[in-house]
Amino acid sequence: MDDYTVLKVIGEGSFGRALLVQQKSSNQLFAIKEIRLPKSLSDTQNSRKEAVLLAKMKHPNIVAFKESFEAEGHLHIVMEYCDGGDLMQKIKQQRGKLFPEDMILNWFTQMCLGVNHIHKKRVLHRDIKSKNVFLTQNGKVKLGDFGSARLLSNPMAFACTYVGTPYYVPPEIWENLPYNNKSDIWSLGCILYELCTLKHPFQANSWKSLILKICQGSVRPLPSHYSYELQYLVKQMFKRNPSQRPSATTLLSRGSLARLVQKCLPPEIITEYGEQILDETKICKQNTPRKNGMCTSHSILL
Ligand code: ADP
Ligand code: MG
Repeated sequence: MDDYTVLKVIGEGSFGRALLVQQKSSNQLFAIKEIRLPKSLSDTQNSRKEAVLLAKMKHPNIVAFKESFEAEGHLHIVMEYCDGGDLMQKIKQQRGKLFPEDMILNWFTQMCLGVNHIHKKRVLHRDIKSKNVFLTQNGKVKLGDFGSARLLSNPMAFACTYVGTPYYVPPEIWENLPYNNKSDIWSLGCILYELCTLKHPFQANSWKSLILKICQGSVRPLPSHYSYELQYLVKQMFKRNPSQRPSATTLLSRGSLARLVQKCLPPEIITEYGEQILDETKICKQNTPRKNGMCTSHSILL
């Protein structure tokens, strides 16, 4: 910790704290997530997973990992600092004023790119929510908080261990079925809905009625000035059956998102992902009928 000067606390949770720090040697700003290490060895190894998984990710739409170290009973994860705060704060700041559609589509495309990256590496985030999406002042969106993320090796193991935020938890989890990549897609759908309405798609006064609403999967339509494309995206991502939900690759290969991919990504990443997404677009064009310009196929990648 000697290499960094703590400037302020930017987040606090059950894990410990998130700090804004300045590296002494370079004057560069970073965020450090300070996690209290549990007493038992197995729990400690579990905490370390967050750093291990984040370190594996390298993408403009995933918060960049710098280093991690342990000191004074804490695990410190040093990562890039996102100076625009988190998406939940941003939504609150709107005070009811709806976001323009092009902004929603731009942010959503960036989130899909981030999710596509982790799914390609067989990592499930398992806690996708607006509070875990970080923003920068120059309009970049980054998926953060890999505290619940797991490598997809034994999916059944996730059925009992999942601890997400109830609003974003998909029907299959309430039904005790395994968490899979499409569960992340459901949660991503919740964020898209929040961006369009500034409200959670599923809200209730009790757990029982919240779970019931989620399992029914029906939501109030988006404000009518938003396009059919947005309405359609939300509908597809809230399919009860996970296999009917589009994958991140499929989402990125369609309509406005496909066009935005070219704008969002630096050239080297386009080269990396271009083929995957282009292939998907080709399959999409060849095999499926179109409805109002939208392809209705579903990817089976991952
Ligand atoms: P928790 O496990 O408690 O949810 P997070 O990693 O989500 O921990 O961090 C908590 C909060 O701290 C976030 O919601 C965000 O507001 C802030 N935060 C965390 N990391 C960063 C970062 N790299 N840049 C900016 N803000 C961050
Ligand atoms: Mg968080």
